[in-house]
Amino acid sequence: MPQNDKKLPPCAQNFLKGRISGNPADITLHRGSPFELTGNSVTFGSDVYLAGNTFGRSDANALIHKFHEIQHTSQNARLGLSTFDHIAAYVVFGGHDASPYEQAADTFADDAYKAYKAAGLDKTCPF
Ligand SMILES: [Zn+2]
Repeated sequence: MPQNDKKLPPCAQNFLKGRISGNPADITLHRGSPFELTGNSVTFGSDVYLAGNTFGRSDANALIHKFHEIQHTSQNARLGLSTFDHIAAYVVFGGHDASPYEQAADTFADDAYKAYKAAGLDKTCPF
């Protein structure tokens, strides 16, 4: 049986402490997304549903994608956002990528990955 959900390893939780709102230990990554057909991952609360083969990968693109979704868990914890709020923001701001939540998640993902790699954690603590 393949593993279909997992917590972040303690080394990744330590990295995220102070970088995100909410408890990194609460985050659960799941294989597969309800929006698999469009290739979109989605985050409900602290549960991240990863589309495609991202769950099992820990290359640069996959880690950046996971950090993006992890930032959504932080937004959810900090602002009390629901998935409905994220979808409403896509509509209000004229598309998924124009939402300020998405832009913030992209910025966080790039910065977090750079720091993760600089610390060698992409090699010692893949997730
Ligand atoms: Zn997003």
